[in-house]
Amino acid sequence: MVSRVIPVDPFDLVIFGGTGDLARRKILPALFRRFCAGQMGTDARVVGAARTEMDSAAYREFAREAITEFDDNEECAAESLDGFLEQLSYITLDARGDTGWQAMKAAMRDGPIQAFYFSVGPGLFGDLAERLHAYEIAGPDSRIVVEKPFGRDLASAQALNKGLAKHFDESQIYRIDHYLGKETVQNLMAIRFGNTLFEPLWNAQYVDHIQITVAESVGVGTRGGYYDKSGAMRDMMQNHLMQLLCLIAMEPPAKFDPAAVRDEKLKVIRALEPVDAEDVVRGQYEGTGELPGYRNQVENRDTRTESFVALKARIGNWRWAGTPFYIRTGKRLRARASEIAVVFKDAPHSIFGADAGRHRNILTIRLQPNEGIELGVTIKEPGPGGMRLVDVPLDMSFAEALGPDSADFPDAYERLIMDVVRGDQTLFMRGDEVEAAWAWVDPIIDAWQEVESDPILYASGSSGPDDALRLMHKDGRRWREIKP
Ligand code: NAP
Repeated sequence: MVSRVIPVDPFDLVIFGGTGDLARRKILPALFRRFCAGQMGTDARVVGAARTEMDSAAYREFAREAITEFDDNEECAAESLDGFLEQLSYITLDARGDTGWQAMKAAMRDGPIQAFYFSVGPGLFGDLAERLHAYEIAGPDSRIVVEKPFGRDLASAQALNKGLAKHFDESQIYRIDHYLGKETVQNLMAIRFGNTLFEPLWNAQYVDHIQITVAESVGVGTRGGYYDKSGAMRDMMQNHLMQLLCLIAMEPPAKFDPAAVRDEKLKVIRALEPVDAEDVVRGQYEGTGELPGYRNQVENRDTRTESFVALKARIGNWRWAGTPFYIRTGKRLRARASEIAVVFKDAPHSIFGADAGRHRNILTIRLQPNEGIELGVTIKEPGPGGMRLVDVPLDMSFAEALGPDSADFPDAYERLIMDVVRGDQTLFMRGDEVEAAWAWVDPIIDAWQEVESDPILYASGSSGPDDALRLMHKDGRRWREIKP
């Protein structure tokens, strides 16, 4: 079954930071793939903008190299790339000065949808918003896309929101969290709200606990400068993991529309109880063999920044009281593996006796690698010799059920950029959500700073500090194995 591609209306998309890493690795390749798929038409225009001096021809070469390096879609032919590049241009522009703004104004067409992607550090968001307004480039229908990190605490997020709100209505602001653009994350909502099977069980009465793991096998690499000012809590927990938590825990929205979905997510964040100090573990990876430790990859060799965090979250509402959410994320772990596991309670009584063992249904939503959903059910082990039970996955592989093309779905950036063009904010974070998330995370970080203790060291290639294992052991539970 090949999915139907609906072309979007003509648009002008400006990429501020068009020469940066994100533009090279994600934005330009994503646009190219949508062009190949026939979703971005030949009437769309993409304008790169940054301080580096170059002309449009040089920018097209820059984009060609980026796409050649980072796009792995072999089906898209070379002539498609030439066609796509014709739609690109470049303007040398300073977000903090006057250079380039008149040229930008002249480059924007009347009529097509206008979107401005702020692919620059958050320190420039206010400047860009200010100038888009002052030079009368953006209007009431224009959209702006902003990247993470959206602040480093509640106060800075509030300041960013305020800076943007001076010139843009909330309905024009698209705060990207690329985890929300993943196919399986949206499938999670389809599974929950499109079936009668799961929702009646989706509560503390039937769910023992939920685990969310986002594990990376790589270290900070060359991003040490940025990462050391941030850490796992700010870089991953406050945004990606909390967004996943919201989608798992929220009440059914009345409609699948931006206001309804985001209202329900916000209610989850507001219902989160403060985290007890003994329910948070923060770690930092050590070097192994030739691999340098975290402290050797950042400037401050005494840094206390965490490269790993695990915590137990509790949601104080009727649905979830008594069901903990164990959440962990970290770098240099055993494998690159992200998943959500909904672990259901044991059957209230086993008619098969102690020999049959303990069996549980687990619904696993794999985000990477191999996006997919799996439901573990208990069946009888085949063969004679009595009633021995075994857990097997009930297969929900997209490729098998829907045909091979179905596994070839757009990546998160492709989907999200097209959502911006379509004007659909459902999968973007609203300002109040981001602030509520910081309000929950800030006290945890403040408490670390107060005690002035070092994070716990863990070996590269491990599952994180042993204390993280104990976080679940003390509740009589265990983490699922981190495996590729
Ligand atoms: P980057 O590689 O440092 O690129 C920054 C871009 O901003 C460059 O194109 C730079 O070009 C431009 N720029 C800097 N100062 C400017 C100014 N005064 N006026 C106009 N343009 C200016 O950063 P990045 O990695 O692409 O990240 C961009 C944003 O995305 C950041 O907010 C980052 O946190 C976020 N993000 C990045 C990633 C990633 O994988 N890279 C992932 C998630 C989020 P010139 O120097 O030529 O001006």
